[in-house]
Amino acid sequence: MTSRRNIYLRKPFLIGKEENIVVKYADRMEKMEGSAIRELLKLTAKPEIISFAGGMPAPELFPTEQMEQAANKVMEEDGRRAMQYSTTEGWPRLREQIAERMGAKNHIQTDADHILVTSGSQQGLDYSGRLFLNKGDIVLCESPSYLGALNAFKTNEPEFIEVPTDEEGLIPEELEKILAREDRVKMIYVIPDFQNPTGRTWPLERRHAFMDIINKYEIPVIEDNPYGELRYEGEYLPALKSLDTKGLVIFLGTFSKILAPGYRLGWICADDEILGNYNKLAQAAALQASTISQMETAAWIDMFDLDAHVAEIREVYGHRRQVMLDTMEKTFPEGVKWTHPDGGLFLWVTLPENLKAQDVYMKALEKNVAFVPGDTFFPNGGVYNCFRMNYSCMPDDKIIEGITALADVIKSSL
Ligand code: PMP
Repeated sequence: MTSRRNIYLRKPFLIGKEENIVVKYADRMEKMEGSAIRELLKLTAKPEIISFAGGMPAPELFPTEQMEQAANKVMEEDGRRAMQYSTTEGWPRLREQIAERMGAKNHIQTDADHILVTSGSQQGLDYSGRLFLNKGDIVLCESPSYLGALNAFKTNEPEFIEVPTDEEGLIPEELEKILAREDRVKMIYVIPDFQNPTGRTWPLERRHAFMDIINKYEIPVIEDNPYGELRYEGEYLPALKSLDTKGLVIFLGTFSKILAPGYRLGWICADDEILGNYNKLAQAAALQASTISQMETAAWIDMFDLDAHVAEIREVYGHRRQVMLDTMEKTFPEGVKWTHPDGGLFLWVTLPENLKAQDVYMKALEKNVAFVPGDTFFPNGGVYNCFRMNYSCMPDDKIIEGITALADVIKSSL
């Protein structure tokens, strides 16, 4: 053992772990893995890489100058409040704006009292896991599903059951089969609009069928909706929360994809009792979301036109999506399938069964093209021939160059 005196004598920044010291972590850490995607993004950060791997908004669309004006206004008029602590529920004006927008965009009739502002919807996912899951409880999710949510839930050591999906998202009959046989299901996590990673959207009939089953089994549903406003074709569909008659659906929204993720602002919309419990968790975990982010965002929404901004984003991403789809149509060999998303940031490619996306990924990286191999999106593993493509971040010429190179890699692997 090192003596106390020795510790003090060391240079503070050089203190490392002694060989014979075993730090005992909580059991839950055994299940925790770093996000495979974040690791992979480090590999693809080189400027020569054409990356379809990330899921980030296009930074050239951020309204930086307008936001500077909004920030100046906040600091000039209310700087001391902006730099102070505020309530756990969130900045009152922002909660009102969120509630109004949910009525207009998601058909959800709600008010500011039913909104809790969070640090991104990722925090809402973390709270959801903590609110509902004990060790060994079952979470149902779409197969495949959003890796960040699966990782957030894993801290509570649940088991995952993947509900089978098809081109129209989660298959309600399959959900019912699982619920009829499993009584340990505590929570259902879904992304009905432009899902991450597949880009699929549930049609209206499926939403109704899903809610009928939920009402029968009375299990809480986390409806994660970061992409719903980014629709490039077809009609907007009502959120599950708008069809919820028993207060079982918890809706998670975010400003990350319609404004900017750097402010880290998302929200939870739920009925009184459930939202009160989220509030308790928020008090313990974070006290509140950033006051200054909330006030600047609220000021920006009052001063400028969020609808017009979202329309611009939709135009740019919708175009990039089309360039990617057209180039895939021209260059991808027979036997490869991909989704045609009506919105969002991603599409999902399925290779012939004998090809592994990981192998194709390594070869593609040699040609400076990156994507995310799909196996990480299946919590129980076992699917190796799929991958996720993001189309929001690359200009047209890079999309065409990257997809053409990727098509050559796939052809040479067949
Ligand atoms: N849910 C889904 C489905 C996502 O894709 C993301 C981010 N890519 C999030 C939640 C988290 O977003 P944020 O915390 O920035 O709101």
